[in-house]
Amino acid sequence: MKPLDIAIAGLGPAGLAAALALARSGHRVRLFDQFDEPRPVGSGLMMQPAGLAVLDWLGLGEALRRLGAPIDRLFGREAHSGRIVLDVRYETLGNGRCGLAVHRAALFNVLFDKVKASGAAVETKVKIAAIDRMSGRRPVLVAGGGRRFGPFDLVIDALGSRSPLMDEAAAPAARRSLAYGALWTTLPWIAGAFDARVLEQRYERASVMIGVLPVGRRFSGDSAQTTFFWSLKAENHARWKAQGLGPWRDQVTRLWPETETLIAQIDDPDQMVLAAYGHHTLPLPFGDRVAFIGDSAHSTSPQLGQGANMALLDVRALCGALDQASDLDQALAFYARQRRFHIRLYQLMSSMFTPFYQSDSHVLPLFRDWLVAPASRVPLVARALARIVSGDIGLGRDV
Ligand SMILES: Cc1cc2nc3c(=O)[nH]c(=O)nc-3n(C[C@H](O)[C@H](O)[C@H](O)COP(=O)(O)OP(=O)(O)OC[C@H]3O[C@@H](n4cnc5c(N)ncnc54)[C@H](O)[C@@H]3O)c2cc1C
Repeated sequence: MKPLDIAIAGLGPAGLAAALALARSGHRVRLFDQFDEPRPVGSGLMMQPAGLAVLDWLGLGEALRRLGAPIDRLFGREAHSGRIVLDVRYETLGNGRCGLAVHRAALFNVLFDKVKASGAAVETKVKIAAIDRMSGRRPVLVAGGGRRFGPFDLVIDALGSRSPLMDEAAAPAARRSLAYGALWTTLPWIAGAFDARVLEQRYERASVMIGVLPVGRRFSGDSAQTTFFWSLKAENHARWKAQGLGPWRDQVTRLWPETETLIAQIDDPDQMVLAAYGHHTLPLPFGDRVAFIGDSAHSTSPQLGQGANMALLDVRALCGALDQASDLDQALAFYARQRRFHIRLYQLMSSMFTPFYQSDSHVLPLFRDWLVAPASRVPLVARALARIVSGDIGLGRDV
C-alpha cells in the first residue's frame, strides 16, 4: 500500500511498537500522548515468548534481554499449608525458551529511543478526547482545549483500557470493572532473598495474593530491581491507607516471612500504587479508518501476564495487514481476522483463571489447590500450561 498519514494515539508499548514498525514501512507517523514528558506508566511486567518474538522482529529483543530478568518458572504456594498451587516451568517448551521480566522503564526506553530515530513525530501534553469526521471520511483527532490534529488516512487508538475513542469501533464493547486490583511497587532487589529467575507468589484463599517478580535493570549501569505486589479490592484502598503500614507489614510477613527485608524498604503507603483492573474485548478492533490495538482493543486482569504481549502481537498483525492488502478497508478487515481467535481465547482464559487467584470465592481456591495444582504436575498438562503462558496458542499464520 502507498505511504499513509498515520496518527497513533498513546505511547504505551502498543503505540510505540506500532510507530516504529510503521515508520520503518515508510508511513508518515505522528504520535500523541497526554503526559508532559515521554515516560513509562506502571509496574514491571512479564514479556512472554510470543511478545519477545515480536520485539525480535523489531530488532529490539537483544537490547531488552540485556536489561530484563530471564524467568524460568512461575511458582506459588498456599501461605498456610505450604502446598504448591502454581508451578509453570518454561523449560517444558524446549529450545531454551523462557519469559523475560522487565521494568516498564526498560521497555519504554528501548522502544522510545528507536521511535525517535525512526523519524516519527512525537507530541506530548495532548489529551485526546474524540475523533471528528466533519472534513469528510478522513479522521481528525480532537484534543483538550479544542485543539485539532489531522486529517489522517488512519488513526491508531493505543490509548489503553479507558480509551475515549472506543465508540469509534464498528462494534464497541462494554467495560466490566473487576473488584480486585493490586498494589504495586518497585524496590531494589535483595540478593539471596529470592530466586532471581522465578516469579513467586503466596495466596490465602483467593482474597490475598502476594507476588515478587525480579525485573532486572531500568537502564544499563542501574542496579537490579524487584516488583512487589499485593492484591486488594479497589473499594478497600482508602481503608488500607488509613490503617498505616504496620498492621499490613505484620500480615504480609506472617503469610510470607521471607518478604520481611524486602517490604522493610516501603516506608510510605504512597509507594504502593493501586492498579484497578477491567475486562473488555472489542468484537471488531477497527472502525472507519481507525484501528484499535493493545488494551484499547482488549483489556483484562494481568493474571495471565499477556497484556503487553497481546499488544505487540496486534502491532505485528496490523503492520503485516497494511503491507499485504491493496486498500485500507481490506487491511483493517484482515488485521481483525488475524487476531480474532487468539484474542478471544486469551480473554476467555483470563476471565476464567482470574477468580481462582483473585476473588472472594471459598470454593474456587479449594478446587485450585486440590485438583488443578496436582494435575499441573502431569507432564502433558504442565506443557499445556507453559504453552498457554507463553502466549502462542491460537496465533494466526502471519502473526
Ligand atoms: C499492574 C499491572 C501489571 C501488568 N503485568 C503485565 C505482565 O506481566 N505482562 C503483560 O504482558 N502485561 C501486563 N499488564 C498489562 C499491560 O500493562 C498492558 O496490557 C499494556 O501496557 C497495554 O499497552 P497499551 O500500549 O495498549 O496501553 P497503555 O500501556 O495503557 O498505554 C496507553 C498510553 O496512552 C496514554 N493515554 C491514555 N489516555 C490518553 C488520552 N486521553 N490522551 C492522550 N494519551 C492518553 C497513556 O498516557 C499511555 O502512555 C499489566 C498491567 C497492570 C496494570
